[in-house]
Formats: sequence, structure tokens, C-alpha cells
Amino acid sequence: MITVEQALLKIEADLKLTQATSVLVKNALGLALAADVLSPINMPPFAQSAMDGFAICENGSQNFKLIGEIKAGDDANPILKPGEAVRIFTGAAVPNAATAVARQEDCSVENNCVKIHPLPREMANIRPMGEQTKKDETALQKGHVLNAASIGFLAGLGIEKVTVFTRPKVAILITGNELAQAGTPLKHGQIYESNATMLAAALQSFGFAEVEIATVKDDFSSTKKQIEELLQRCDVLLCSGGISVGDYDFVGSALQKVGVDEVFYKVLQQPGKPLYFGKKEEKLVFALPGNPAAALTCFYVYVLKALHILMGKNSAGLPRTRKKISANYNRKGGRAQFLKAHILGDVVQILEGQSSAMLHTFAQANALVYVPLEKENLEKGEIVECLIIE
Ligand code: AMP
Ligand code: MG
Repeated sequence: MITVEQALLKIEADLKLTQATSVLVKNALGLALAADVLSPINMPPFAQSAMDGFAICENGSQNFKLIGEIKAGDDANPILKPGEAVRIFTGAAVPNAATAVARQEDCSVENNCVKIHPLPREMANIRPMGEQTKKDETALQKGHVLNAASIGFLAGLGIEKVTVFTRPKVAILITGNELAQAGTPLKHGQIYESNATMLAAALQSFGFAEVEIATVKDDFSSTKKQIEELLQRCDVLLCSGGISVGDYDFVGSALQKVGVDEVFYKVLQQPGKPLYFGKKEEKLVFALPGNPAAALTCFYVYVLKALHILMGKNSAGLPRTRKKISANYNRKGGRAQFLKAHILGDVVQILEGQSSAMLHTFAQANALVYVPLEKENLEKGEIVECLIIE
């Protein structure tokens, strides 16, 4: 069996980035730039007033002759001589000769004469042309993941399209004779299916809006057929359940039969020991354990990381932080652990109910505490690594 660290390295090795495509800026949220974006204009495009007030051309005096008005959007550039002022508003173009903009609060006007006290510093309240970015310079670098601010920034540069790495297509295959759909009455021995809904929601929270979902019974030939079909349409296949050693676990043998090469099977971890990862050419297959908390943990730790790397993101997977643990914790068993936990301020509390079947605990968690293999006991106040669940 391999360790968590070895499993992650095996997943990260040889991942080929998705194809770069041009998309509308407004559709690029959460995607990584596949090329540097050069600015087509200076930003701001002209020297801009940052205040409502008076643009002045200093001559040593505190009194200025008022010669006009410029409001935002005006195509005006009056010649301002020393000792002259122009009424100006936020966002308006500042005349070339202006030495500063005085705040309205510091000015009084009487008979076309503006009295200013105190006089502003040189160039105060003027946003210089190209202050944020200059024409033809790099506005955002390759690998940058577009957030709301970067989308606003690009829109402000008048850019309509950007080249990004696209999201891989993800499909989910659910296995299990015991699974019933919500809305149907449960027969004895059945449980409601939850992994498809849960994994689709997890994917959705990272921007994967469209995910194909298929369901099969615990049966070799239908499992094989579905895997074959899904692999034709997706880049990353997530199988749920059927990967353990029971007589009715057919995912492993079906994957082998359709030509998926096993990269690893089983990781020294809890939950999620039976995790499988394989490849068929560039396509990735994760077979997640059926236990819901194990499936979700494996999604957060492994699948998300792979998806992010495929999408060219520099920081892949859940964000991590380090916190003090709220109480002693004694680990059982010789496996690394991902513990459902709750962060409050500087402290993280490990929650009761860590079984891989338990989603009721996971639902309250905002973090997973990682306890590495070599760590036996944790003492209250010790710093632990946490994966943050948003
Ligand atoms: P398996 O990995 O198929 O052996 O399943 C392990 C456990 O997870 C069993 O108790 C299953 O009933 C449960 N399980 C498997 N798949 C799902 C699912 N899609 N939704 C909810 N529970 C599941
Ligand atoms: Mg099963």
C-alpha cells in the first residue's frame, strides 16, 4: 500500500493540461489564464481626478481664478495657467497642466475666485495615466486564476475574450444494488443514494456545473459497458463504490477489462483506504470508496487536486492552513488520517463521529485535519495541518 504523499505524487506526475481556448471574460470565472494578458490601453486611460474638488495649477498663492468645469465623461482638456483652477469631479479627466486636485472640503468659492486651505501636495488626488497598467504591458500573468476582481480588471481594460485552460469534463458512475433514489419508498435493505448528489455538489462548488451521472447495479457487464461509454465522453471519471474486495465489487475488474491502467490501488489512509487511480491514455479514473464520507474526503484530497492541475492552476486542491488543536487526540491504527474538524479562530476542533459512513459529522465540518502516518498522538495546542472546506 502506498502513502498519501506517494499517491498524490503519482496523480500529479504526467498530467497533461486541458486544451487552451478563448472564452468570453464574463464566462472565465475560476479558470486559469493560458497566456499572459497584455493590456490594450493605459489604465487609467487619462490622468483622472480621484476627488470632487478643484484642479489647480499652482503659483505659490492660495487663491485661484476659476476658469471652468469638467465632469466625468467630458471630453475637455482646458489649458490651465499658473494661478488658475477648474471645478472637477471624481473620474473626470484632469487638465494636462494641473499640479494637483484640491478636495472640495478645503475650498471656498467667491466671485470666480477659489480659496484653498490647506493647499494639496503636488499631484495629490490625481490618478496618473497608466497607474494600474500601461499599454502593451502584462496586465495578468499566465496561470492567474480569474476571480471577480480580475474579471472586473479585464473588463475595465476593454478586453472581451481571454485564453484559458478549460475545465475537464467529469462524469460520475454510481454502483450499488442497495441504492434507492430520493422520492421512492425505501425497501428493507435499501439506502438512499447520496454520493452522486454530493459529488456533483462538490464539483459544482468548484465551477463544474455540468457533470454526467450514470448508475449501475453491482453487475460486471453493465459496469464495464457504462465505464466504456462514459470514458468516451469525459476526461475524468469518478466511480463510486464497488472497488473493495467483496464478491459484488466489480469496478476494479471492469476498469481493467476496458483497458484502464492501474496507477495505484489502496492508500494508507483513513478514511478512503480502497481508493483507486488509473489512466486510459489521457483520461483519468478515480474509483472512490462507496462510503460517503470516504468518497468526499478522497474527492477533496485527490480528485480536486488533479482537476486543478489539469486546469493549469498554480495552487491546486483545497487551501491549507495551520491551526492549534483544541484537545489531545490519540490516533488508532497505522494509517494517516483526514479528520472532519471545525476551525474557529486560531483553533481547530476534531469532531465526534469520524466513521467513513458518517456525513452528519462532515456536514458540520469546515476543515479536514491531516494527521500524517508518522504522528501517533496530538497534544492540545499542537499545530496541525488543515485543509479548508469552503
Ligand atoms: P462499497 O464501496 O460499494 O462497498 O460501499 C461501501 C458502503 O457505502 C456501503 O455501506 C454502501 O451501501 C455505501 N454506499 C455505496 N455507494 C453509495 C452511494 N452512492 N450513496 C450512499 N451510500 C453508498
Ligand atoms: Mg457497493
